[in-house]
Amino acid sequence: MHSPSPTYVARLPATEPDARRISDLLTECLDPASAVCAAFETSGGVWQVEVHFVAPLDVKALRAMIAAAAGKKHADATVYATVAQRDWVATSLAALAPVHAGRFIVHGAHDRASIPINRIGIEIEAALAFGTGHHGTTRGCLLAIDELVKRKKPQRILDLGTGSGVLAIAAAKILRKRVRATDIDSRAVQIARANAHINHVGALIETVRAAGLNAPRLANAPFDLVLANILLAPLQRLAAPLARRLAPNGRVVLSGLLLAHANAALAAYRTQGLALERRIRLDGWVTLVMKRKKARR
Ligand code: SAM
Repeated sequence: MHSPSPTYVARLPATEPDARRISDLLTECLDPASAVCAAFETSGGVWQVEVHFVAPLDVKALRAMIAAAAGKKHADATVYATVAQRDWVATSLAALAPVHAGRFIVHGAHDRASIPINRIGIEIEAALAFGTGHHGTTRGCLLAIDELVKRKKPQRILDLGTGSGVLAIAAAKILRKRVRATDIDSRAVQIARANAHINHVGALIETVRAAGLNAPRLANAPFDLVLANILLAPLQRLAAPLARRLAPNGRVVLSGLLLAHANAALAAYRTQGLALERRIRLDGWVTLVMKRKKARR
């Protein structure tokens, strides 16, 4: 699945709050199709930020972003390297600890045997697509799914901007229902497909390459649950078409929002007849659960 071409990595040690600040800013600023950023605790207890790029990186721009997030000393402490893609995927995932979110645990293959029987393991093995569970936006969505399926069992589910497929896999595993998983990035679609098979839900997850809702296979909605972790601007653009495809009482989980973005996202979806049900704040990010109450005019 991985091409043998090299990738480029920037690494720096930091305290946990600085590592999270840097990772959040870089995740917000960098194109997720070409860069993956993670902040994690290494086995020695030291926090580290790693950013992997598929093309040679713009060191000057990256330095400026790191300095803006946590100061010049962190920009100075950053080291850059070129690595074989196969190596860094294995290395970075081996360094990541499993992530707990409600009943879900997102983990790499190396932790497969340690998942308790009363938890739902989601094995993610492809770090080139966003969604290892370490980011506050993904964790917020997993917590939202865990909580809302206790009250309601949605039948028709869409994961819009699936990345690694983590949310689609979570929904398919906990509900045993079919999930459509879309991404604008064809590589993410392939990775999500592979991860669905690794997690034994390949038959339940239909992967579709699509920008927003522009695909024939998304035309015959409505959906009872839409998961959309894709940042403020695309979420605003998608508010009207997404609300149109939401069944009455259907829910949308919106994420990828900084705290300062929450009101703008709320306004865009309230205008479409949705009401806020739950707000989850994690690591400076917010996840919103919104419900379509009225039949559409
Ligand atoms: N769902 C995963 C998670 O929660 O960890 C990945 C979320 S990642 C922040 C956003 C994903 O949305 C990326 O894989 C990106 O390629 C995709 N994306 C961005 N804009 C999109 C759009 N307009 N339509 C479909 N996918 C989009």
